Amino acid sequence: MRRVLGLLFYLFRIIRILKAQNSLVFFQNIIIMDELVYLITKQSLDIPTMLTGDQEKVRKVNRSLVLNTLRLHAPISRAQVANVTGLTRGTVSNIVNVLIEDDLVFEDKLQNSKIGRPSILLGLRPDGGAVIGVEIGVNFISVLLTNFVAETLWEIRAQTTLSQSQTDIINQTEKYIDQALTIAKEQKLRPLGIGVGVPGLVNIRQGNLIIAPNLHWKNVPLRLMWNQRFHLPIYIDNEANLSALGEYYFGVARNVDNFIYLTSDIGLGGGIVIDGRLFRGGHGYGGEIGHIQRNPQGEQCGCGRVGCWETQVGPRAVMRRVKKEFQTHHDQLLLDACSGDFDNLTFEMVVKFALNGDLICRQAIEEVAVNLGEGIADLVNIFNPDLIVIGGAFILGKDIMQSIIEKTIFSNALQPATENLRIEFSKRSTEASVLGAVAVVLDDILREMVIS
Ligand SMILES: [Zn+2]
Repeated sequence: MRRVLGLLFYLFRIIRILKAQNSLVFFQNIIIMDELVYLITKQSLDIPTMLTGDQEKVRKVNRSLVLNTLRLHAPISRAQVANVTGLTRGTVSNIVNVLIEDDLVFEDKLQNSKIGRPSILLGLRPDGGAVIGVEIGVNFISVLLTNFVAETLWEIRAQTTLSQSQTDIINQTEKYIDQALTIAKEQKLRPLGIGVGVPGLVNIRQGNLIIAPNLHWKNVPLRLMWNQRFHLPIYIDNEANLSALGEYYFGVARNVDNFIYLTSDIGLGGGIVIDGRLFRGGHGYGGEIGHIQRNPQGEQCGCGRVGCWETQVGPRAVMRRVKKEFQTHHDQLLLDACSGDFDNLTFEMVVKFALNGDLICRQAIEEVAVNLGEGIADLVNIFNPDLIVIGGAFILGKDIMQSIIEKTIFSNALQPATENLRIEFSKRSTEASVLGAVAVVLDDILREMVIS
C-alpha cells in the first residue's frame, strides 16, 4: 500500500512540476485533482510538511469549487457537481451538507429528473447573506446592497464635489453603509462583507488607498478604519479592477477566464483577468495600463510623466484635440453648443456631434480609436486574452470606434494571438464598478481568493 502511495505521490509531484511550467494544458480533471491526491498521499506517507495549512487550503478550495459551480450551473445535482468539479461524490456530499447547515445552499426536493428518478437539485440561497458594494468616485459615492445571489435590494448614488473634504466624504459613505446594514438587518440577512472601489492605487494586502490623484487623497487606511467601524471583512481595490471583476461575474466577460477590461472616464484604467483571477501584481499595483509610455514626445500625464497611453486615448485627449483643431477650423455649431466657451465642451457632446457628421469631432474620436487599438494590440501580444472589454466613456463612442479598434488590433497584433479574440463593449456604464465591489466579496467566499 505504502509503495502504491509512494508512486502516486511522485506521479502527482511530476504533475505539479509540469503544471508549474505550464506544460500541461489538458487532463483538466487530473489538474483539478492533483493537489488533493498529492496532499492525501503526502499525508499517508507522513512526509513532513506544513500539513495543517495544506489541509485547510484543500478544504477551502473544495468548498469554493462547489460554491462556484453552484453559482454558474444551479440548479444542479450533487452528482453533476461532482462531474463538473472532478471531486468525488462523497466529498461533494460532505461539503454540501456543511453549506446547507451554513444556510448558503438550498435543496429543491420537488424537482424530478427526466428519467423518472427523484433528483435533488441544489442552488445558492438568495438569503444566504447580504453583500455591500461601495464605490467612491471622483465626484460621487455609490452604495449597493445585494443578497447572496447579487440581486439588488437597495442602492444610492450621490454626487460629491472636489471641495468636500476627505473626512466629509468618508463620513457620508459610512452613513450610506449604515443605511444598507439597517436594511439587511430588517430583512434578516447577515452581512458577509463590504467591497470598496476607489479611483487610485491600492495596496490590497494592507487595504490601504495609497494615492488617488483625482481625489487628492493619500495613504488612507480604509480597511483598518472600516474593520473597526463595521466589524466586517472589508475589501478595497482599484475601481477598474473591480469593474473587470463585475464583468466577469455579471457582464459580458461571464465565464471568460482570460480577458482585459479597459475603461476611461478621466484617466485610462485597466483590469487584467488571467485564468479567472484578477492580476494584481505583488502588492496590488499591477494593471496600470494607462501609464504605459506610448509617445515620449507626447503630452504631460497626470502621473507626472510624459506620453502615457491615457494622454492619447482618454476623453481629455479627445477634447484637447477638438479644441486644438477648432483654432484652425472654425465650427460655429460646436461653439454654439458650448455656449461660446470651449471649457463647456464635454466628451458626450463630441460624440453626439461626431455621430451627426461633424468632421472635427469624428476625426478626434477616430484617432483615439486607432491609438486605443494599437495599445490593445500590444496587450494582446503579451496576454493573449480571449476577450477585450471596453467600458466607461468609450461606450458612448462605440458606433464609431468599434470597427476601427478591431481593424487596428487585428492588423497590429501577432496573428496567432488574435485567433480567438473578441472585442466587446461593456453593457454597463455607471454601475460596473459598484457591482464589482459586490463581486469581490462574493469572489472571496466563492473562489477562495486570499487577500490578506
Ligand atoms: Zn501617466
